[in-house]
Amino acid sequence: MIDIKIRENINLRDKRVTVIGLGISGVEAAKLANYHGARVFASDLNSNEMVNAHAMDLMHTYHIASETGLQSEKVYDSDLWVLSPGVSKDNEIVLKAIEKGIPIVGEIEFASWFTESPIIAITGSNGKTTTSYILSEMCQAENINGVMAGNMGLPFSERVLNEILNPDENRIYILEVSSFQMEFTKHFSPAFSIYTNISPDHLDRHNSMKEYIDMKLRLANNLKKDGSIIFNDDDSILQKALSKINKKTKAFSITRKDVLFYLDNEKIVGPSKKSLLDINELRIQGKHNIANLFAAATCSHLIGITEEQISNVMKDFKGVEHRLEHVEFINNVEYINDSKATNIQSVIVAIESYRKPIVLILGGYNKGADFRLLLPHIKSSHVRDIISYGDAGGQINTELGDAVRSVQVTNLSSAVKKAHSLAAPGDIVLLSPGCASYDEFENFEVRGVFFKSIVKELVKL
Ligand code: ADP
Repeated sequence: MIDIKIRENINLRDKRVTVIGLGISGVEAAKLANYHGARVFASDLNSNEMVNAHAMDLMHTYHIASETGLQSEKVYDSDLWVLSPGVSKDNEIVLKAIEKGIPIVGEIEFASWFTESPIIAITGSNGKTTTSYILSEMCQAENINGVMAGNMGLPFSERVLNEILNPDENRIYILEVSSFQMEFTKHFSPAFSIYTNISPDHLDRHNSMKEYIDMKLRLANNLKKDGSIIFNDDDSILQKALSKINKKTKAFSITRKDVLFYLDNEKIVGPSKKSLLDINELRIQGKHNIANLFAAATCSHLIGITEEQISNVMKDFKGVEHRLEHVEFINNVEYINDSKATNIQSVIVAIESYRKPIVLILGGYNKGADFRLLLPHIKSSHVRDIISYGDAGGQINTELGDAVRSVQVTNLSSAVKKAHSLAAPGDIVLLSPGCASYDEFENFEVRGVFFKSIVKELVKL
């Protein structure tokens, strides 16, 4: 077995490392372990196209053996397990490995053993990716090279191996970390941890809100000695949870003025008390995005990025694909793709971001959300029509049908066409589905791309 108690003693040479899960982070963890001389074996119960392609790549390019579509006893013939974030800690095979005394680490813990570059970890229920993108733009300076990694399809292991092969002393990792990725961490210690907010999402996998919050707080507990926590002080759950933690903190807020970056009516003011720009100059919509800008700006300021650079990025940042993304104007109706909004909280922030009448498209695979939670927000916002579709369409129509004009259709394509027929000049057609996409699409990205393609078809009519 590998003794993972002291990070400095970890030596993988000729050790048997089993990588569980052959998704994008698993395959990169296997390569990183292989680079360090381990005898790697990878295993995935699935055998879909991506998993099989990863297994082939490992075999042909790196001579790493793997199995897909099954999990044999060979997985337990191991000195260390590297677990992909998709595999739950309650999974039967994980429990069995623990019983056998095999040390288990998550992919980000594993990758972090092989880099000394500082890490900024970004976590929270919503806004992680957007904040990561903003921060990585801010962290492009003479002596700072912000490199994004993590949850959004850029495995940390891959970035770390790239750093080993191309050393870069200015590198600082901007790592998006989901609560699942915190499940098997030990030494992983960020220099900064940014907390965007906490809402009760993902409760299907974490057994309770307390467990979910505890998992999120691990990032704070693991912080480097002189590190700081940067947190959203407008979020009461977060404020309460962090008040118990004995670490350096820096708050950001869009309501308070005693913070580094704050709002003075329509102006954004920086730490020098200079007004940096007007919120009407921003290219991204919504108060939540101002919070994301402030989170990134606060961290950037603490690591020495100039106010000028921070303000330039604020002004130029165009947003991230599938998050309140402008698609087209058709007959003066604006079409917006917010396919990433897979929970109710995201729908709320989306509808509160616009002052024009909204034709809202909701639907998809239902994770068991209670759509009635949207009712007060629909009443106080500018939603005029709701079009529901897909697996959750019936439930949405039952729960929200009386609030505004509502119609239920079968799929997303019909929903867009219905929205087109209902919208009048000056309206917004907003896909902010509030559901996962699995009933009709592989993931939210495919759903968003499909939505944009249907809208582009409408332009041609
Ligand atoms: P994550 O990576 O945490 O899922 P994203 O940046 O991808 O977050 O944004 C996902 C969705 O969450 C967005 O479409 C938006 O509706 C919502 N959102 C983004 N930032 C925030 C925020 N600061 N507070 C609340 N909701 C947000």
